[in-house]
Amino acid sequence: MLAELEAALERRRADGLMRERRVVESAQGPRIRCGDQTLLAFASNDYLGLANAPELVDALCASARAWGAGAGASHLIVGHQAPHEALERELAAFVAPCAGARALLFSSGYLANLAILSSLATRHDAIFADRLNHACLTDGARLSRAALTRYPHRDVGALRDALVRVRARRRFIVTDAVFSMDGDIAPLADLLALAEAHDAWLVVDDAHGFGVLGGGRGTLAHFGLASERIVCMGTLGKAAGVAGAFVAAHPLVIETLLQTARPYIYTTASPAPLAETLRAALRIVRDGDTRRAALATLIAAFRAEAGTLPWTLLDSSTPIQPLVIGDAAAAVRVAEALAVRGILVPAIRPPTVPAGTARLRVSLSSAHALADVDALTRALHEVAADA
Ligand SMILES: *Cc1c(COP(=O)(O)O)cnc(C)c1O
Repeated sequence: MLAELEAALERRRADGLMRERRVVESAQGPRIRCGDQTLLAFASNDYLGLANAPELVDALCASARAWGAGAGASHLIVGHQAPHEALERELAAFVAPCAGARALLFSSGYLANLAILSSLATRHDAIFADRLNHACLTDGARLSRAALTRYPHRDVGALRDALVRVRARRRFIVTDAVFSMDGDIAPLADLLALAEAHDAWLVVDDAHGFGVLGGGRGTLAHFGLASERIVCMGTLGKAAGVAGAFVAAHPLVIETLLQTARPYIYTTASPAPLAETLRAALRIVRDGDTRRAALATLIAAFRAEAGTLPWTLLDSSTPIQPLVIGDAAAAVRVAEALAVRGILVPAIRPPTVPAGTARLRVSLSSAHALADVDALTRALHEVAADA
């Protein structure tokens, strides 16, 4: 049995697909310590620089004294404490995917997506998913046992054809709002129009839009969209800087999840101090236009210098700025050459991205300085010249 596992791992290594964890010996931020090296990192999803913000650290310490360390039980038993309740109300009012929306907290975005799809969809239903959606939406669709149709990336015409073709009791259009490995934005207005025309739900995963787009409210606000058909999921471990996730939707959707979603019911509530810390994060996100403007400046500066590299800079206006290299081993070699220069950019390989599209995924944060982005683009041009 072990020899067979070993052989499979060896094949993975030979294909350049072996993953290694780096032990980070500092808090998150533009500079992280790994072993005896300090790296300038463009790797996290901490888009607003909140993961180690003093306001959040203070909130975490103070609320731990008030609420203790652990929630003790699941939300439906005795784990649902006042900070969770307050955070849910604040998130619902802020994100507001429809009039009178409610929100429900989850311990992670992965669980939230499993909950949405496995609770609302069944084997009598149909899910229409963008081909580049995050893995956990695909896993949620599998768990639901609904018929799954994956349409070509952002292809509204192909989605319309599929909606005309596939009949079911309930139908769900499911999409990342900002695609996690490409950085581009889903055509949400067109998707909502299709949902209305074909009587479908629209499930939006705003992991990378919440906090960043639409004045921090997310990608729906960016487009000025709201509807009772929308089920919006956002994560709280990325721009919000902490951990967890929420679903915001019509109160009947939220009550259905609360009553029936197994990834909500059968897991311990996340600690109340995290909810209190997230309330502090939400205040910064709400008043975060200065951080978002700084981020926009960095994105423009990166794109101005990265467009002439010999790799494909994807068309992205968000903090996710991928450079597609193609071959997995080549992407790893470029990432290693950057690391030698003290710069950390992750190489993203299959199966996270389609075969032949391995890439460097540069992610920017408002905590970066313009000089940091200059150092990155200079190093990329040096590495490209050596290659
Ligand atoms: C990160 C991510 C998730 C998962 O969220 P976690 O809170 O990290 O579990 C879900 N969807 C997308 C698009 C993501 O990028």
